[in-house]
Amino acid sequence: MTLSLTVPRSQLAKLQIHLKQGGNREIGGWLVAEQTAPGKFELVGLTVDLEAGTRDRFDSVPEPHSQQMDRILLENSGRTGRVDYLGEWHSHPTFPPIPSEIDVASMTDMVENSGPSFAALVIVRLMANASIQATITTFQRGQLPEAGQLIIADEVSAAGFGEGWQLPEH
Ligand SMILES: [Zn+2]
Repeated sequence: MTLSLTVPRSQLAKLQIHLKQGGNREIGGWLVAEQTAPGKFELVGLTVDLEAGTRDRFDSVPEPHSQQMDRILLENSGRTGRVDYLGEWHSHPTFPPIPSEIDVASMTDMVENSGPSFAALVIVRLMANASIQATITTFQRGQLPEAGQLIIADEVSAAGFGEGWQLPEH
């Protein structure tokens, strides 16, 4: 089943601010999402570590992320669906937002060996016109990576690689 992740505009706006702060550094963190139906998730929060970013590669350091995730879980404890870690996100400030070989290898290693047996990877890129390009790829133990679908809440059309996410101007 192809996973779909709905991104509310409020979360998109937060992401845009993080990406501006990150500049040319790769930044990233964890995705926290509510499962609303089988294969369907809504992003309720994302953690970010602006300190750990480097220009070439994002290294996920657990401590700041687990603290931020605890707060997000607390803030969303009233939701009816299961709210949990969905996966990772990071930026590709200077190249297309598709998983690199290193990205695929590290996500595959995580689901095959150490972490959860399923995780999504969202890669984002802030474009010069402030729109966000993004892809989502899902990794499941024993299976090949699969492209998922990103949906911006309040919009009919789905966004994906090649179609910039345009924030309203105001
Ligand atoms: Zn990457």
